[in-house]
Amino acid sequence: MLQEYTKVILSSGKDQSVRRFHPWVFSGAIKKIKGEVNEGDVVEVYDNKDEYLGTGHYQIGSIAIRVFNFEKINPDTQFWKSKINKAYLYRKQLGLTDNKHTNVYRLVFAEGDNMPGLIIDYYNGTAVIQTHSIGMHFAKQLIAEALKEIYGSELKAIYDKSAETLPKKAQIDVTNGYLFGESGENVVIENDCKFHIDWEGGQKTGFFVDQRENRQLLATYSKGKSVLNTFCYTGGFSVYAAKAGATEVHSVDSSKKAIELTNKNMELNGFSNIHQSFAIDTFDYLKDKEDKYDIIILDPPAFAKHHDVKHNAVMGYKRLNAEALKMIRHGGLLFTFSCSQVVDNKLFYNTIMSAAIQVGRNVKVMHHLTQPPDHPVNIYHPEGEYLKGLVLWVE
Ligand code: SAH
Repeated sequence: MLQEYTKVILSSGKDQSVRRFHPWVFSGAIKKIKGEVNEGDVVEVYDNKDEYLGTGHYQIGSIAIRVFNFEKINPDTQFWKSKINKAYLYRKQLGLTDNKHTNVYRLVFAEGDNMPGLIIDYYNGTAVIQTHSIGMHFAKQLIAEALKEIYGSELKAIYDKSAETLPKKAQIDVTNGYLFGESGENVVIENDCKFHIDWEGGQKTGFFVDQRENRQLLATYSKGKSVLNTFCYTGGFSVYAAKAGATEVHSVDSSKKAIELTNKNMELNGFSNIHQSFAIDTFDYLKDKEDKYDIIILDPPAFAKHHDVKHNAVMGYKRLNAEALKMIRHGGLLFTFSCSQVVDNKLFYNTIMSAAIQVGRNVKVMHHLTQPPDHPVNIYHPEGEYLKGLVLWVE
């Protein structure tokens, strides 16, 4: 027997995007809510002729419902187990599970895995959960049970780190903590590079898993090179460059804590001797330095989170890239990224082009980069595409 959930009826014509499997229902599309509804409730979406369209979580805000299923179901432990298992089998197919060289990957990427509002990163036996919606937050115990069943004894701990990611307006009391197990082993390997992960105190879930393939690409060009890694966070690109035989690696981050983590990771891999780090704003570092590098990496945080600040973000990217282009030796490379979802590929490309025009150097585009397949884009939800990068050859 399927349980009854509150029915949300959409206005005429507002059902089209849900019929095309887009998971978001905006508040303006709602005609009527039949019965009582509270933030985080499971609701069922219907068109105005009473045809069922999908089941999702209700939230107060412009995105009112995040649909996680387009067939009627009861979202119980079995349901979440089957959903998360699909995500797991997909990662297995990618070769990320049971992998001798890599034991860190993203297990659930929200809409990309048909679970809007849920992020799960897997760190060598610890699953770190970040919920971005109240509905997913309420489902976390079911999700934790599902994870335990799927991983069995391989799973040592589940850490819930949702205090920073849940909407502040919801005014529910959330503290981070272990849903299962406890703090333990926190060294992971990614393509045989070792990293300490501080999921309790670090940014996001503790590590930027999304740069794995781009770090690997950097490694193929790093032998014998001097490398500057800006916005280094835990030093992902720095470790790969050093491991591949870079002669000198400089890491920059404005956060002292990030620099400490980078130093710790370079030490863990035995590369302290060729490494220097600077806790300073990248803009200041690039402005004041006379040094030249063979390779520079620019991986800033999202300069624009909303369309209304896009212009300022673009100016920031341009200035940053222009400064870096000036500091690259002849025949050197620039790895440049943007993770601002609102700055699309074309705008990013044009911004980098205008930085190159400003600096007046001869530049070739070698690679167009993106997020890896454990951060999949649901074809019906193009908003899931966020990471973009270019590798430039600079004459
Ligand atoms: N490249 C990293 C991830 C970068 S996250 C990796 O592969 O893991 C962005 C980082 O930029 C954060 O660590 C943040 O502390 C840092 N940051 C933000 N603004 C900065 C600025 N103006 N100058 C230097 N670092 C900055």
